[in-house]
Amino acid sequence: MHPGEFLTLLAPLSGPIVPIESVPDPVFADKVVGDGISIDPTTRTLLAPCDATVTQLHAARHAITLSAAGGVEILIHVGIDTVGLKGEGFTALVEQGDRVSAGQALLEFDADHILRSAPSLLTQIILLSGEASAIVERASGVATAGASRLMSVGPRRRAADDAQRASSAGEAGASRPPPRATVGVTSAVVAVPNPHGLHARPAAVLASEARSFAAAISVELAGRNANAKSVVALLNLGAGPGAELRIVASGSEAARAVARLVELVRSGLGEDLSAAPAAPERAAPASPAPAPRATRSTDDARRFHGVSAAPGLAIGPVCKIDPLAVEVEEHATDTEAELARLQKALSHTRLELKLLVAGSGKRAEQAEIFSAHLTMLDDPDVITRAEVAIVEGKSAAFAWREAVMASYRELARQSNPLLAARANDLRDVGGRALRHLAGGDEAQAAPAGSVVVAETLTPSEVVRLADQGVAGLVSVLGGTTSHAAILARSLGVPYLAGAPGALLDLEAGATAVLDALDVGEAALLLRPTDAELDAYRDRLGARRALRARQEAAAAERAVTRDGVRVAVLANIASADDARTAVRLGAEGVGLLRTELMFFDRATAPTEADQTAAYQAIADALGDRPLTIRTLDVGGDKPLSYMPLPAEDNPLLGIRGLRIGALHPTILRGQFRAILATRVRGAHRVLLPMVSSLDELLEAKQVLEEERRRAGSPPVELGVMVEVPSVAIQADRFAAEVDFFSIGTNDLTQYTLAMDRTHPRLAGRQDALHPAVLRLIDATVKAAQRRERHVGICGAVASDPEAVAVLIGLGVTELSVSVQAMPEVKSKIRELDAARCRELAKAALDLGTAAEVRALLAPGARPG
Ligand code: PEP
Ligand code: MG
Repeated sequence: MHPGEFLTLLAPLSGPIVPIESVPDPVFADKVVGDGISIDPTTRTLLAPCDATVTQLHAARHAITLSAAGGVEILIHVGIDTVGLKGEGFTALVEQGDRVSAGQALLEFDADHILRSAPSLLTQIILLSGEASAIVERASGVATAGASRLMSVGPRRRAADDAQRASSAGEAGASRPPPRATVGVTSAVVAVPNPHGLHARPAAVLASEARSFAAAISVELAGRNANAKSVVALLNLGAGPGAELRIVASGSEAARAVARLVELVRSGLGEDLSAAPAAPERAAPASPAPAPRATRSTDDARRFHGVSAAPGLAIGPVCKIDPLAVEVEEHATDTEAELARLQKALSHTRLELKLLVAGSGKRAEQAEIFSAHLTMLDDPDVITRAEVAIVEGKSAAFAWREAVMASYRELARQSNPLLAARANDLRDVGGRALRHLAGGDEAQAAPAGSVVVAETLTPSEVVRLADQGVAGLVSVLGGTTSHAAILARSLGVPYLAGAPGALLDLEAGATAVLDALDVGEAALLLRPTDAELDAYRDRLGARRALRARQEAAAAERAVTRDGVRVAVLANIASADDARTAVRLGAEGVGLLRTELMFFDRATAPTEADQTAAYQAIADALGDRPLTIRTLDVGGDKPLSYMPLPAEDNPLLGIRGLRIGALHPTILRGQFRAILATRVRGAHRVLLPMVSSLDELLEAKQVLEEERRRAGSPPVELGVMVEVPSVAIQADRFAAEVDFFSIGTNDLTQYTLAMDRTHPRLAGRQDALHPAVLRLIDATVKAAQRRERHVGICGAVASDPEAVAVLIGLGVTELSVSVQAMPEVKSKIRELDAARCRELAKAALDLGTAAEVRALLAPGARPG
């Protein structure tokens, strides 16, 4: 391509444009094939993006290569993992060698057919001729096939060349030590101005800037020397406040690198130097703000406070989940294959972490942790250590684990506790990559009866740990409405979230009492005295006896003392849940959270997978109603294989039903899978995160189209009342739906403007806030006027303390977590509905959630 010449590529398909980095296949995301753009297609005919010659049409017809003016080579790859379809669902309209003009149809594909077997239709348009040309401009937003400009390709400029070289040097620097010095440049002494010295965050900033230079760079302190591109090495220098460093560089751009890094160190490496020296390094997500009614014993150093994410009491030895405790083969014979496996695992982990950072939105602490993990993952010293071991005959998994452990031990030896604490981060990220190398999640085994302590817990970890019979769970990150919390509640495992980070540094094995009975006073008590242990054991015994009585009566209906019947249904996520729910007295399923079937997988479930899962649940329920909620991801629930644009406020962005608009094939496919399920009782479809009438009407039309196409009988359609706008316009919504399900978790979040996953706000997220109660009241009244059915499926329905006020507001259906059913039913039987109504009326006039709680407190409660 000649200087000044540019080639415009038109969009070959219509649909939202997705950055290539977000494509859930590292081959594309990491630009292994080349730079490009992805489109999530809404059209089915692939058009030529420019005049070109078809140089290759893949035998499976899912990919086509074009050669355009100026030697520009373009690959268009339809879908992810579509090669396995062996051409099924694709019809080629051109042949190899054909000359095509811009906008000409190249191939057609059957999206429904493809999505039954492949995880995604995302289509990648990749520039192959990397050396000669580069993308100089790229579009964003939504593309129109044959009309929108997708990208401009121009000759690779020198500057772009340099930048590219620098960044690939950075990446290469991640896998091998910097080149040897040729001509060295050494800076003058520069003192570390940071109040805590060169700790993790500034070290990460320094390393990441150093990696943008091709030069070999080191940092010297008192005769010791560290690779400036390695966070671990920088931390190991132990440079405290005022430490006198010298930056030494050699090779390409050495002088520029030294000047830039000196300037960065002087400026505090991104830290606010005016901050009080005593400020903690990472704002501890530890203790939530105290719940209004709680008093806490702050004087006892053995007590670690958090919030009760799943209520209960547990006594057992502390078990810390060790991400590095994985069985791996020590030796391997094929060095090249093992080196490639290591790179692949690192690249998977990198992608996983990037998605976690992108999904963190404004949860700055979370984004910060995962960004720090990203820098540690690419640490050249750790990677070099692992590669050397592989070359010496070790397997990639063994070599990586030993390299991480060695660096971990060095860091943990640091006398500066802030630096030593970063050892845990290295262990964590090392374990993440190790899971990709070793396969599976065996790292998370914990003895039955133990109290597990971890930095974070994923939904799948909670399920596995519950299966292993652990007595309780504690995590530093997370809140009461995370999916891990929802699962812990449904599995009946006590869970304390938002605990202090210091817990991670404790020795495992000590006896602990996890007291998560009370949201405000939930805590882990370490090394209880004999008297404390006796008291807790008595409490545990009494709770078990009460529970046995409640379970014995679980199959009976829940009717108040004055004869008002309240249906108690279950919130579930799987067929196992459905079977347990039926055993514990569920009168149906009020909420099937389908998204949990979409988590913790590498690819999306196919329609057939989904129907099979729904059918197993319907079979377990017999003639009881089944309410299937469509996919509710986005916000606090990112999916690794469904790229969503990074958003500043993901909880206010593309989540719930809004995903349906962005990925229409997913919503349609899910509707089809739901309609294909044979349900003997009421068959209900529930739409999540609806905020305006047009979203509902659009989805309603799609459902009806699919129903007609499939010739299925009508199903009931309902909306979640999770956004205040829906409660306020409940009369308008009631005209369009068959039922309402009030999701108080989100309704509270959006009414009180409090992020539901925020650990520090967890204690103040109370659905009994009078503002939320007023919205429930408005919804119930509008539903009653139209004779629409209304239930509550948010966590407040599972709170025995709250049931009285909900019944008083006229709610006659509660959908609760599986384990809460026996207790909620027995609570209803103790109540008098007429007195509940008086109580609700009073609650609506109160000012705060604390006042409502006080009204409901034992002694003041009706019944
Ligand atoms: C809710 O928001 O109350 C609800 C039940 O939905 P989820 O917790 O799955 O967002
Ligand atoms: Mg919700």
